[in-house]
Amino acid sequence: MKQSIKRRLLAVGWISAGLTVILTVIVLYAAFEKQVWADLRRDTELICALYEEMGEDAFPQAVKENFRVTLISPEGTVLFESDLDAKEMENHLSRPEIQDALAYGKGEDRRVSESISVSTYYCAQMVKDGKVLRLASSAKTVFWFFLEALVPVALVGVLVFLLAALVASILTRKLVAPIEELAKDSHVGENKAPYPELVPFVEALRFQQEKKEENARMRQEFTANVTHELKTPLTSISGYAEMIQNGMAEGETGRAFAGKIQKEARRLLTLIGDIIRLSQLDSGTFSGTFVSVSLLETACLVVERLTFFAKQREVTLSVSGEEGCILGDREMLSELIANLVENGVRYNRPGGRVDVLVSCKNQKVILTVSDTGIGISKVHFDRIFERFYRVDKSRSKETGGTGLGLAIVKHIALSHNGEIALESEEGKGTSISVSFPACS
Ligand code: ATP
Ligand code: MG
Repeated sequence: MKQSIKRRLLAVGWISAGLTVILTVIVLYAAFEKQVWADLRRDTELICALYEEMGEDAFPQAVKENFRVTLISPEGTVLFESDLDAKEMENHLSRPEIQDALAYGKGEDRRVSESISVSTYYCAQMVKDGKVLRLASSAKTVFWFFLEALVPVALVGVLVFLLAALVASILTRKLVAPIEELAKDSHVGENKAPYPELVPFVEALRFQQEKKEENARMRQEFTANVTHELKTPLTSISGYAEMIQNGMAEGETGRAFAGKIQKEARRLLTLIGDIIRLSQLDSGTFSGTFVSVSLLETACLVVERLTFFAKQREVTLSVSGEEGCILGDREMLSELIANLVENGVRYNRPGGRVDVLVSCKNQKVILTVSDTGIGISKVHFDRIFERFYRVDKSRSKETGGTGLGLAIVKHIALSHNGEIALESEEGKGTSISVSFPACS
């Protein structure tokens, strides 16, 4: 970054210096040319006046002033020429300044010589006897002007280059130092942005750091929770097994213990399955195959699968609504719906209902799972989507819950750009809806 800032500063310095030189030369040359014309016009008038008084005796005066003087007859014949032999000169009637002088009394022209190093300025005026008197003055062309200016300009350029390099290096160091300072300090904390322009950058850095810290905290918490959750069923499995080993469980009791061991083992398996699922979703290794999926159809299949589970708990299931096509992974969406319906059944009472509704509104497909169950108090609203969070630990455990279901729901919803809304009233029921962008 330092190098690139420096390079750009230098480039700006150079371009400015170059443009300044070019513009200066052009402006100077324009002023110079203006002066040449003014001098020539004034002197032409003067020599014409002198010629009208004294005739050709006036010419030596003009020549002394470094002008070239030419006298031309109305037919274009050169009658006098101060620098060349008048007799050898061709007819001058074709020259623009002569034509203008014959027509309007005065004429001017500027011509560049073949060597392009010199421009000749001509100023012609008709005198009393009908002849035309012409004065010419030579000056360097703008190109030559440039070439001559090149040496001092190059010298100044080298100076500007050195100065620009020095200033660029100092400026760059000053500009970059606070940013480097920020980068070095791994904890942005209370560090203030060195420039107002960097406020968003520092804020983003701070946000990232906070997120990192939060993630680390959550991971630690998760590990602690997992360990705890795995330990509980394993402790009881080991307890029952020990009792069987010690011969404390004969006949019926033995079978009952085996049943308990099986139940705990199943719980362990579900838990491990959920953890694996979450870590897959977390790591992004499981991205699924996104196709057009009908939410209604998926919900029907899920409800069918869970009918027995609901019947056992005397809960009625129903599905209704529109087709609701979204872009998503069928398996993940089934899992999302299953988790919501399972909760609706689990945290219900005998004779209760769980209704799944698919509706479409404003380019959104909304899946709503509502139940007539025990409801959730507002104080838990923020937390029930956290991993391992259970409102009533004993009830959840008794029904085989691990507290990961809604965390998985949240994850799947997020990966489908879905938004979750929760409504619940204690003792009356809960309604959780997820709105997905409709498949166009
Ligand atoms: P599992 O991982 O098996 O789903 P779980 O059901 O306990 O276990 P979540 O689905 O994440 O875990 O739910 C978290 C908690 O939120 C539950 O323990 C329960 O207390 C509460 N909860 C979830 N859904 C409902 C509901 N429909 N009615 C009442 N309480 C609910
Ligand atoms: Mg659940």
